[in-house]
Order: sequence, then structure tokens, then C-alpha cells
Amino acid sequence: MNTTISIQQVSDSKISQIDFNNIPFGRHFSDHMFVADYYDGKWNDMRVVPFGKIPLHPSTTALHYGQAIFEGLKAFKTDQGVVQVFRPEKNARRLNITAERMAMPEIPEELFLEALQKLLHVDRQWVPTTNGASLYIRPYMFANDEYVGIKPADNFKFVIFSSPVGPYYPKPVKVLVADKYVRAFRGGVGNVKAAGNYAATLKAVKEANAKGFDQILWMDGVEFKYVHEIGTMNVFFVIDGKVITPTLDEEAILHGITRESVLHILREKNIPVEERRVSIEEIHQAYLEERLEDAFGTGTAATISHISDIGYLGDNMELPVVENRTISRSSKEFQGVSQELPRSSQGVPK
Ligand SMILES: *Cc1c(COP(=O)(O)O)cnc(C)c1O
Repeated sequence: MNTTISIQQVSDSKISQIDFNNIPFGRHFSDHMFVADYYDGKWNDMRVVPFGKIPLHPSTTALHYGQAIFEGLKAFKTDQGVVQVFRPEKNARRLNITAERMAMPEIPEELFLEALQKLLHVDRQWVPTTNGASLYIRPYMFANDEYVGIKPADNFKFVIFSSPVGPYYPKPVKVLVADKYVRAFRGGVGNVKAAGNYAATLKAVKEANAKGFDQILWMDGVEFKYVHEIGTMNVFFVIDGKVITPTLDEEAILHGITRESVLHILREKNIPVEERRVSIEEIHQAYLEERLEDAFGTGTAATISHISDIGYLGDNMELPVVENRTISRSSKEFQGVSQELPRSSQGVPK
């Protein structure tokens, strides 16, 4: 494999147009992107180029059949101005698990990490220094055959771009328990980051929004009995001081890196944790008995999102006010999980 990555820098940075004290999520993009093309059975033409549009043939297979996958991770800047990426090797690994499931080629982990390093070096000015702000990084891959017909593609494009994002001020979310639509099921693709998973949830979320809820609390697809996750977050409940999160055994839940980090912190703090099937009845019962102390979602974009309400069978379970929650507010490292954990040692030079 030829891992030479060429670099073409912009002549004019857009960075002066950004107000780093007020950055909306996902609306601004840094100056460069990494691109590689898969053809002739291998990755070719690795390059860092000015951020810009990607011309597509109208028959590009990803647009028709959804062979497209993605990742999401964040880079931070230390007080010394060193750029650090939160556990990028885990995202590299997960991207490849997703790729394998979707009959797409793997990105060698070293290529993923080197591409990231080169891109972040060129765009290092874009990593915010504001406390709690970060550079959100979006790697993705899509089938790029110019062809009408369903088969695993022979050509793919892999891209990494980034977007500065402001500090996350958690606003508690209202979730509605799914009783009609299904996000994922054993044997499907809910446990990987396949693009189509998200399109399939939009209608349900739109209907929930119309009822005053922010997100859907997805249930298992067979009985609508066991809790899976929330949109793009894993979910945790606290009952009687014990933290409970759905087991990944059902193969329909995304293996969140934030979830893994939160479990790690909880265990380190000797807080009792259970990874097992969680039925919505159990949650409802605990609520009725006033034993449901806390519920929150975890994910890279939103870090920890407190859940304020759970709509279930016409009942609204109202959770304790955020200020009274002990677990999800229990320590500094927990509140800013993405900022405070030990990161990958790979600092990108200033
Ligand atoms: C990305 C994602 C998560 C969160 O994963 P992190 O690695 O913590 O960012 C949870 N659920 C779904 C469905 C996701 O796509």
C-alpha cells in the first residue's frame, strides 16, 4: 500500500469568518479535507485538499442503494496548544467493523490515523481553544460505482472533514418510547454506523416532535419490550443507586465509545453497573415507586444528555430535576466525559 499523502493547501483560509465564541453545531467547516479513492482493489490517491464539493455521477450507487457509512469523533486543544484526538483508534476499528458489515473495503488503521494526523496538522488552527469547544471530525465512506444495479460496489470514496463546534450546554431531552417504528433488530445493521439507519428514524422523530418530544427511545424490534437506545445516543438509567444500561448482546445497539468510557469511569468509581436487558416495564415500575433516579444518553456529539421526561403509554414519566441527580452530575470528569478522559497519546504537533 502506498501511504504517501499529498497535501494541497488553500491560499486563503476561511477561519477569520468564524466567531469561535459562538459556533453552531455542524454549520462551519475547516479549510481542508482528506480524500482517498478505492479502485483496482486498493486505496489510491490519498490527499489532503481544499474543502469543497465532490462531483457525483447521477448513477452513483451510494445515492440509490445506501452503501454508505460514517464515524464521528472529536479533537481538542490542550492549554499548551497541543491537538489531541479522543481515542481515534477506536473509531478506526469501528469504521472497519461497519465497512465489513456493509460489504465495503476496510481502511487500514494506520492510514486512517495518518490521514487524520495530516489533516489535523494542516487545520490545527481550527481546533477551538474555548473551554469545552472542540473540532468534530467526520470520516465517511460511500459506494462510488457509476452503475444501476444492486451489488457490492467496486469503487468507493473515503473522506474526512471537520467542523468546529462550541461547548455543549446540555439541555435535558424528552424521549418518547417507540411503539410503532423499529430502529434495529438482530441480524440487521443497527449495531454499525450505516447511513441508512438514520434516514429510517426521521419519520418517527418527526411524529414525536409533533407530540412535544425531542427523540425516540427505541425498543427492541420484536416485542417493543426491551430498551435499545435514543437516536444517536446510548442510554443509561439509575435505579436505587445502580446504573443500568442495555447489553450489546442483542446485536442491534451501536457500540458507543462514549458509552464504553462512561462504563469505565463508573466502574473505576465503584458505582454499581449492570449491562443487561432492560425492559421498559421495569423502568416504568421503578418510576411509579419513585426509584428511578436518573436517565441519560451518551454520544460523541452531545457527550452526556440528561433525560427529563419519558413518554410511555400516554403516561409521562417526569424525572428528577437535573440538579438533584447524583450519578450523571457526580463529578467533573463525568460531566465533560469527552474532555476529561485520558485521550490517545497521539498529540498532533502544534
Ligand atoms: C454514534 C452513535 C452512538 C454514540 O457513539 P459514540 O461512539 O459514543 O459517539 C450511539 N448510538 C448510535 C445509533 C450512533 O450512531
